[in-house]
Amino acid sequence: MKPAHHQGRFDGDARRVRQTANSTPLAVCWRCGRTLREHPAAKSGKPQVWTAGHTVDGDPNARPWLNVTRQPPAGSWLAPEASGCNFAAGARRTNAWRGNPHSQQWFST
Ligand SMILES: [Zn+2]
Repeated sequence: MKPAHHQGRFDGDARRVRQTANSTPLAVCWRCGRTLREHPAAKSGKPQVWTAGHTVDGDPNARPWLNVTRQPPAGSWLAPEASGCNFAAGARRTNAWRGNPHSQQWFST
């Protein structure tokens, strides 16, 4: 069973994690440890972007990881993850990708 994680603090935390990664050139992907620039471009040619990824899939209690130049230690985190790594890992998910929530969702909680 899949917990509904698009609720609670998730949206605000995810936004903070993405913003922190975007403003930190040396931020690394928690999944593979590379910076965004070190990730290969997608097949479509689109550059990868930062997303906020769960180190424990779908855990609603994940804490935001904002020390983004390092990979998080063991635990449940919401941490920067390159879109390519996130999409590859999330391909098994049935719900549509929601990396760019609408503004009303950012403030709905
Ligand atoms: Zn990666």
